[in-house]
Amino acid sequence: MAAETDWFDQGLSHIWLPYAQMKTAVRPEIAISAKGAHIRLADGRTLVDGIGSWWTAVHGYNHPGIVQAMRAQLERMPHIMLGGLAHEPAYRLATRLAAMTPQTLSKTFFTESGSVAVEVAMKIAVQYWRNLGVTGRSKFVSFKGGYHGDTFATMAVCDPEEGMHTLFADALPKHYTADLPTDEASLSALSDILSARKDVAALIVEPLLQGAGGMLIHNEDTLREMRALCDRHNILLIFDEIFTGFGRTGAMFAADRAGVCPDIMTLGKALTGGSCPLAATIATDEVYAAFHADDPHKALMHGPTYSGHALACAAANASLDLFKKEPRLKQVAAIERSLGDAFLPLRALQHVRDVRVIGAVGAVEMKHPFNIEQARAEFIKDGVFIRPIGKVIYLTPAYTIDEEDLRILTNAVIRRVEALATR
Ligand SMILES: *Cc1c(COP(=O)(O)O)cnc(C)c1O
Repeated sequence: MAAETDWFDQGLSHIWLPYAQMKTAVRPEIAISAKGAHIRLADGRTLVDGIGSWWTAVHGYNHPGIVQAMRAQLERMPHIMLGGLAHEPAYRLATRLAAMTPQTLSKTFFTESGSVAVEVAMKIAVQYWRNLGVTGRSKFVSFKGGYHGDTFATMAVCDPEEGMHTLFADALPKHYTADLPTDEASLSALSDILSARKDVAALIVEPLLQGAGGMLIHNEDTLREMRALCDRHNILLIFDEIFTGFGRTGAMFAADRAGVCPDIMTLGKALTGGSCPLAATIATDEVYAAFHADDPHKALMHGPTYSGHALACAAANASLDLFKKEPRLKQVAAIERSLGDAFLPLRALQHVRDVRVIGAVGAVEMKHPFNIEQARAEFIKDGVFIRPIGKVIYLTPAYTIDEEDLRILTNAVIRRVEALATR
């Protein structure tokens, strides 16, 4: 390889990659630029992207609306700390998030990653009860199939059976894991937990769509049941919309589809349209009121160094502008139809367990495990970037993807699913 990629071979001995067994992982492809739904590789090939960089790049890569806003902010100042100083991008973004999120959600705390946004939501929930003078409420109820992050507090509310974090089970606080209340039996089981346990601060769920758990879908009624249960048992409800937020399920937020307002909502991933790390924890006026006091000990004691990063907030504001200027939710609806047309017939295949489509998410779950590294490599040979998780092959494309590129993606998935039958 040419000297200009020396950095790659040298760096490969020093970089520690996410979720990767470094010894056996397939060498990553070198991306030199990205535009819209396309990733350009160093060797001259172009891939159609089916994943959107872990579900973030909803406007496609390098959207000029975001790039220009970032450039303008960069020239003024990339960042200035929120402790004791204020800058326009974060304050504007907080105001806009209050206006666009459901009902009384209106107070935003900014962090740099989704996991930390969930940690902050958990801290708020625990301290909320303390501030109200209610002691002993520090546990959470979460759900099978759920994923809320990779840090210690968040690992403890992920699906405990799911492979990624079982190793750490001993090191994690114990909370309560329930089945999603999708029928009478699971609903009464959840109700029983909440009746029996007086130490629960909040219930946390990825509304409508559990992403990392394998693109598992439940319906709006399930969320309404949760809201009713939390009200009845006087427990806070946290919607982790880090994946579902910003149109992924077809509405701006999954909460909108259900007509349910959680007490706390977390956002991340698509918040900056895939351009910068930024996450948000948004509380209702009522939750916030428990912290708003003369007593300094009632303040929320959390403060990431880069909280409210100005460049990232400028990118997020630009991303919100794009949702106004361009017909994103219509694009999502069109993608949902195309994904349904392409994937639903695969249900008839013997070796396919299930096909799930919601908004700009299409997933095909196989009955049997398959070689994921090999599948990923085959996709690249086919000119697409697609990364199955577990037994699930899925697409989470940019909302701006055109029909032809989307067909290239769905055809590649169908080909791979069909090839897996003959193994
Ligand atoms: C990705 C994700 C997180 C974690 O976000 P990071 O930015 O990776 O820390 C939390 N919750 C959900 C639902 C997610 O999809």
